[in-house]
Amino acid sequence: MVVGIRSPDRLPGGPVHIDTIAVQTLRDHEHGAVVPPVHLASTFELDPATGEGAYAYQRGSNPTRAQLETVLAALDGAEHAFAFATGMAATGAAFGLLAAGDEVIASASVYGGTYRFIDRIFPARDLTGRFVDDLDALTDADFSERTRMVFIETPANPTLSITDLRRVIALAHDHGALVVVDNTFMTPVLQKPLALGADVVVQSATKYLAGHSDLLAGVVTTDDDAIAEQIALAQKALGGVLAPFDAYRLIQDIKTLPLRLERQQASAVAIAEHLRSHEAISAVLTPGSASEEQAVVHASQASGPGAVLSFELADGVDRVAFLRALRIPVYAVSLGGVESLICHPATMTHEAMTPAARAAAGISDELLRLSVGIEHIDDLIADLDQALAAAR
Ligand SMILES: *Cc1c(COP(=O)(O)O)cnc(C)c1O
Repeated sequence: MVVGIRSPDRLPGGPVHIDTIAVQTLRDHEHGAVVPPVHLASTFELDPATGEGAYAYQRGSNPTRAQLETVLAALDGAEHAFAFATGMAATGAAFGLLAAGDEVIASASVYGGTYRFIDRIFPARDLTGRFVDDLDALTDADFSERTRMVFIETPANPTLSITDLRRVIALAHDHGALVVVDNTFMTPVLQKPLALGADVVVQSATKYLAGHSDLLAGVVTTDDDAIAEQIALAQKALGGVLAPFDAYRLIQDIKTLPLRLERQQASAVAIAEHLRSHEAISAVLTPGSASEEQAVVHASQASGPGAVLSFELADGVDRVAFLRALRIPVYAVSLGGVESLICHPATMTHEAMTPAARAAAGISDELLRLSVGIEHIDDLIADLDQALAAAR
């Protein structure tokens, strides 16, 4: 074996921290290289007698994707990890666990692409998606024989409202339903849903894991062997897998994930505090800001708020003028990159939803979502201030 897993689970001082896992999980034992090799081969030599080999064909598995999957499993503390070409391919693989006739309960403010999948792809598969405004309000009465999955995003996008993972997982499991958590906004650095009992975690690695707005990727992790077999089948049979070069780049990007997120989160906290006392801003939404109860729940299941916040401009502040006046945040969809991005969910990330569905999910036409990058905090605040002044 060329690549070994080197990072110990524990050091004399206690468990190894995720910062160390992100950097030290892979080593090239053959050459002593500190960076793992990239294997581009589409096909691999097999034993003529048995037809077997460590690898056979790149789509099924390959050494570079396997390296990445080792890191991804280590980050989540998961038994199994799978890398896909995009976050939606990962979500699609999770939905592949469903059979005709099944129903999925999902939050109304789920990621726009996930909403589109449920809205447009489910009917032809004879699947039913039921959107609820507040997953925390779920009771036994919401489950039927057909309810096979609950799909959770916490914090939800872009309202950053919180779902109590422990409670909803226990309720779903009482009714024999699987729980899938989209952990894109938190990453394993801040939240580990599998440890709280979730069956499957999906992530868009395009966002924080890659972190440089130049790579699309998706991740599925699980501790369940039978689910893992089905996700591996989705890789092989549907073919939406991550290419070796992108797997290699993601391995390298993940090394700075804890560091980037720490900086981005600290800046997001400072910006939220600044905007809350700004007279040109009427509302600031951060994870747990909706109520004391949500704040307590978020603190019990995640170790920080992350680096995305949403806010509404006060009456009399012109949205387009504000966005045009900004010099640092780029007006673009996506999040999690080193550069700050700002978007208008109603016309961008959540345009697949009907206006009524958006209103029910609390996504007003005036809401803006800011993904905070690693620029200097003083520059970011000065830029927001000058753009707000210009827009009044
Ligand atoms: C971006 C995103 C996805 C989809 O990921 P892609 O890599 O763009 O396919 C899924 N869920 C969330 C929360 C996202 O932000």
